[in-house]
Amino acid sequence: MKKYYSFDSLLLSTGWLSPGYVGVDGVGTIQYLSDKSPVDSVAIESIHGFALPGFRNAHSHAFQFGMAGMAEKHRPGTNDDFWSWREAMYRCALSLDPTAVEHIAAMLYAELLKKGYTHVAEFQYLHHDKDGKPYANYAEMGERLVAAAETAGIRITLIPVFYQQGNFGKEPFPEQRRFISKTIDEYFQLLDDSAHVVAHAPHARLGFSVHSLRAVKPNDVVRTFEQGPSTIPFHLHAAEQKKEVADCFLFHKQTPIEWLLNNLPVNERFHIVHCTHLTDHEVAALAKSRAHVVLCPGTEGNLGDGIFRLTDFASQGGQWSIGTDSHISLNPLEDLRWLDYAQRFTTHKRNTFDDGAAILVDKTFHAGNSAMGFSSSEYFSVGQKLDAVIYDAHRPLLSQARREHLLSAIIYTASPAEILGTMIDGKWIVKNNYHFREGEIFKSFTSTHAK
Ligand SMILES: [Zn+2]
Repeated sequence: MKKYYSFDSLLLSTGWLSPGYVGVDGVGTIQYLSDKSPVDSVAIESIHGFALPGFRNAHSHAFQFGMAGMAEKHRPGTNDDFWSWREAMYRCALSLDPTAVEHIAAMLYAELLKKGYTHVAEFQYLHHDKDGKPYANYAEMGERLVAAAETAGIRITLIPVFYQQGNFGKEPFPEQRRFISKTIDEYFQLLDDSAHVVAHAPHARLGFSVHSLRAVKPNDVVRTFEQGPSTIPFHLHAAEQKKEVADCFLFHKQTPIEWLLNNLPVNERFHIVHCTHLTDHEVAALAKSRAHVVLCPGTEGNLGDGIFRLTDFASQGGQWSIGTDSHISLNPLEDLRWLDYAQRFTTHKRNTFDDGAAILVDKTFHAGNSAMGFSSSEYFSVGQKLDAVIYDAHRPLLSQARREHLLSAIIYTASPAEILGTMIDGKWIVKNNYHFREGEIFKSFTSTHAK
């Protein structure tokens, strides 16, 4: 055994293990897990804190971190909405070279680790150079994101995105030129090259994707799923904006979710991002299909998308994860509260769930794992890597919470100041709000921003 830790408490799906002793081998795999001190230990690092499984961030566009908070000046008398924000986002996308993207992503990933995320799904559609020409290395940008994740020490699932057209039946706009794969063969080439990138990166996995029904021709959406790899997760955006739903209806005489359900074998491999505007029938059918919905409440609020019908979806057994999307919020606890409180605003009831904190952690853990391309029945167990966020047992509210209220106290009251640190592979990556490569990552990020 390489190293032992003791935590005041460690969260299992059955409740707190108190105290929680964990032994890891040289690569951070848990070999010992018990509330009893190991007999063969010579040294145990004692951590006065509460360990939760690291949060899974199931939807990220890393480059958008470069503009987070910078599209909030609204010109009087104009209509600023998702579509005008998108123009600003396109300007950002057109301005960044691969090195800038790598520096921005490394900074973002370091910040995500500080907030308790340990795995990110990168929905990557910024593929080509500023003129829209493929780089000599077709998967250049994906490779940079995988490198950024390695620098920051976070796990990544790289999801190359098929983006083909500007809107339903419309050619791409010039400002979308960096995103475009004209044909399904071009996209599969990109996916193949991306598979080679992750094959050489132990911290990386692969997913595949179409951007949305508006961005890919109907036949190619079907072919992408049917001819794509059968063992990795499939992601797409759908039903985020009312205009998108209306455009889809005009083109297909069906809403995006209806079209998906009618044309694809929608199942647990699907991770459908947003699903903001759903009918009663769609809520029920999606829950029944076992498809996962990826909710990004910080971004959905910021962009004025609307409120997902979580109460209805959850009561019918629906599965969901969370993502930070545009990165206007990086704090998983803030996003989990947004999810719950948006329901409370609209239902005028407090009990979105019977035990909100436990359900929020459990659902986002399992659906988050699925979005990344793996599954795990337990938060921590022998044979798994020790990836954890640890909350500080010295903080006033957490120090006083009885065990039955401890998880609620963390989920509903903790700020990032309550985080003692984050571990990946059984090692501190963040400790006392300091990321182990903070200096160099920050320097590269600020030099990119200064250009
Ligand atoms: Zn997105």
